[in-house]
Amino acid sequence: MAEMRQRCTALEDMGRIAIGYSSKNNIILKLLIKNYVNILKKTNQMNNIIAIRPVEKVFSITWMLGRRCNYDCMYCPEELHDKFSRHHDLNKLKEAWKNMHQQTGAKKLPYKISFTGGEVTANKNFLPFVSWLKENYNVSSILITTNGSAGLKYYEKLTNYVDAISFSTHAEFMNEKVFFQKVVALNKIMIRPKKSFHVNIMDEYWAKERIKLYEKFCIKNKVSFSINEIDYDKKTREEVLNNGQSNLKI
Ligand code: SF4
Repeated sequence: MAEMRQRCTALEDMGRIAIGYSSKNNIILKLLIKNYVNILKKTNQMNNIIAIRPVEKVFSITWMLGRRCNYDCMYCPEELHDKFSRHHDLNKLKEAWKNMHQQTGAKKLPYKISFTGGEVTANKNFLPFVSWLKENYNVSSILITTNGSAGLKYYEKLTNYVDAISFSTHAEFMNEKVFFQKVVALNKIMIRPKKSFHVNIMDEYWAKERIKLYEKFCIKNKVSFSINEIDYDKKTREEVLNNGQSNLKI
């Protein structure tokens, strides 16, 4: 129940509640949901419920595409980024997918793939790869996390193939104005519930004032966002380069 409550609470935080469960036949989960709904009824929160439905069965994959990144955030661990590793070529990516598909395709489940890096858009093969994936396989959703440094035209093309885009702020390197121009443009294309767009505001300790501004900007422009806590345990340097361009005005 605690877990169910936790999940529902997290969904409540998003403003409205959608309760999901993973199996149509899971009696215990159904019971837990029933109990939770009773609690909501008692506390007059029932009006917030917009749907109670089983979560679709999917084969979920998180795919780290490579470590190569055009940024070098001080808190980002070595195992997650570098400036020299080679980008995987298109054929290699296709081969890797075919292998994975061969081993999992028998389950006949739609795939949900979350691509992360490094910086996924730094690899010029990424866009052709996701278009090939969507066109040839039963991939129900593709999610990407990016530092937002690619051009708007590139992201616009990507919106034809991906279902969810998360931009992460990195005050050390980003040009704020350009970053948030892309945020506004993509937020108008990635419309819920079919698609989604989100901004992960990295809670960098040296950029607290800028972060408040990012938050304000997202609220004003109705962009989904979260403030993401940073783990500095594996930082690669002490100093902050702070070369980013602090040029966002509201
Ligand atoms: S943009 Fe992301 S992957 Fe690149 S260095 Fe920063 S945190 Fe790491």
